[in-house]
Amino acid sequence: MEVNCEGCAGCCIDWRGLLEDGADAGDDSDEESARRHRRRRAPFGSDEKTTPSREPLDGDPSFVPLTRDEVRAFLEVGAGDALTLRFWHARDEGEEPRSSGASSGDSPRGSEGVEIDGHSVAAVAGRPAFFVGLRKPPKPVAPFGREEPTWLPTCVFLDPTTLQCRIHDDDLYPDECSAYPEYNLALEQETECERVEDAFGGDRLLEAGHGDPDGLLLGSQAIGAKLFCHPRPADLEGVVERAAAGELSKRDRAEPVAVAAASSPGTLAISEHHYERAKERLLEGGGDDGGDESTAMDDESWVGPAIRDWQRRCREAGEEIPAPEVADAVEVDRGAPETPGWDGFE
Ligand code: SF4
Repeated sequence: MEVNCEGCAGCCIDWRGLLEDGADAGDDSDEESARRHRRRRAPFGSDEKTTPSREPLDGDPSFVPLTRDEVRAFLEVGAGDALTLRFWHARDEGEEPRSSGASSGDSPRGSEGVEIDGHSVAAVAGRPAFFVGLRKPPKPVAPFGREEPTWLPTCVFLDPTTLQCRIHDDDLYPDECSAYPEYNLALEQETECERVEDAFGGDRLLEAGHGDPDGLLLGSQAIGAKLFCHPRPADLEGVVERAAAGELSKRDRAEPVAVAAASSPGTLAISEHHYERAKERLLEGGGDDGGDESTAMDDESWVGPAIRDWQRRCREAGEEIPAPEVADAVEVDRGAPETPGWDGFE
């Protein structure tokens, strides 16, 4: 596998906004326009797909699922603010979930859903299933050869000036990122490289061969390792709705992330000790989304304050979009690792 990542970072950015503002180049035929419309609605699905099946509740097209050990590692360095959640609609979305409150078990006729906040949430053995991944605050970025930056949801660890990953050479670098797009190729799914080529031209996926990637964690081996199951669905009341609306608070994230950190690979078991420790770690330090920036500086990591600063700058920017270099003040000055740039890369 060989990829051309310079000026791209398509797998670290939700770049669909570039399509919506008509910024993509190329053919404008009806067929092309319809294809793009379908792509916007289902960026990971086939163009022909019409029925949602275990679709995520959130709208992130490039969610990076973390393993339990990676979740713990982020907590250990005080970077819990980098983490977010993904729930899914249950497969039998057309069926009425049993309406016996948030703590209901399986819905009728064998559906896997648990009803929470009016959503039938995919579950394993009556426990809502979820991923833990990385947040995407708005950052000013200019990928794919664009001259002007645009505010786009961008991985917390992406340097918007170089479009390189700040933790690429760090122990925190997620397995999923190091394996991308190999996992997609192994599963015979379209890669982000190909989606970028489709929309903006150029050659991104230079050689599509792949090895036999381990770490995919499919099926039951994913449980407790990458796919987490919450033992108390009632605790997710309100959380699920805010996850669907993209409005999770720090406290919302803390409960399921603590469950993930306390999970045991291959089982549904939760370690109470690890749960309590993780939750305490997640809630310590100041700040929350939209909170007062000045309260956030107790955080050990640059991550939480930088996310809140990006959110504030985006809210207050109006038509003025700052240059990506403002990241030096938002991220680097708070302690974010710098990136090498592309000089010297083949
Ligand atoms: S961790 Fe790095 S490689 Fe992975 S999505 Fe974020 S910026 Fe991209």
